[in-house]
Amino acid sequence: MERGICKLCLKEKDLLDCHLISSAVSKLLRARENTNPNPLRVTPDWIGQTSEQVSAYEFCRACEDIFNERGEKWLLPRLASLDGFPLYDMLGQAPAFFRQEPLFAYHACDIPEFEKEKVIHFAMAIFWKASVRDWGTKGNTIHLDFGRYAESMSEFVLGTGPYSMHRESIWLLEDSMATAKKHYARYYIVRGFQTMWMGDAAQTGSLYRSFVITSNEFNSTQGTFQVYGLEGASGGIKAGKFVPSEAEPSVLFDQDFNGLDSAAKQFDALVADTQKRGFKPITMMEILEFEDKLRRSK
Ligand SMILES: [Zn+2]
Repeated sequence: MERGICKLCLKEKDLLDCHLISSAVSKLLRARENTNPNPLRVTPDWIGQTSEQVSAYEFCRACEDIFNERGEKWLLPRLASLDGFPLYDMLGQAPAFFRQEPLFAYHACDIPEFEKEKVIHFAMAIFWKASVRDWGTKGNTIHLDFGRYAESMSEFVLGTGPYSMHRESIWLLEDSMATAKKHYARYYIVRGFQTMWMGDAAQTGSLYRSFVITSNEFNSTQGTFQVYGLEGASGGIKAGKFVPSEAEPSVLFDQDFNGLDSAAKQFDALVADTQKRGFKPITMMEILEFEDKLRRSK
């Protein structure tokens, strides 16, 4: 144990020897019947088996409990091991919304037991941990720099704040899509996405327009592409959260195109026209101002 400032709660605490990725994950990677059961590690300049794990004295007990309770405890026993893959088995309970051998895609929200918040927290915590120090050993660098996003990411991991305006606006769009599902859900792959605001997103009644290109084509430019546009309004900020307006968004545009090129042309024209009307894409500055308003509204 070491005494120091915990990187997550920022309090002076006894710090534990914490892993970048839970030690339980490397246990799952061990081939217990082999003479050398250690996991294989592949880096840009070295490939080999090693029992070494990446860890450092960075977090306190309470914060380790957050990593555990909000993600690891649920997800780790469900990861793939020599004995099975419970998380994968769980997907079988819902029909795949997309099938193109060998790829099948499922909506996690169709599976009640699938705790997607835990999966998101687990992944976000690893990315965020990678930003608090260089976890590298033997001259390797393991470090991510999230710049101005780092603070809101740590608030998300700690559980004290929403992740970002961008995420909030994607939620808003998803809500809008849910209310207008009969129009929207023709195709499943989003190939283009733009949200623009007229005025202040935090102000009740401010208008936004969102445009998407959807398709069943993952990477081909041939096939059917839907261009879809919505206009809705912000419901302002309530209890530190961004809320969509209760009024349903209206559908501005909804048409299928043959080929990505013609769909993209229409998409660009809609975005340009919306810009002419005074709507602006969300800028980094606005995200920061918006997050500040969220903080002050609590
Ligand atoms: Zn802490």
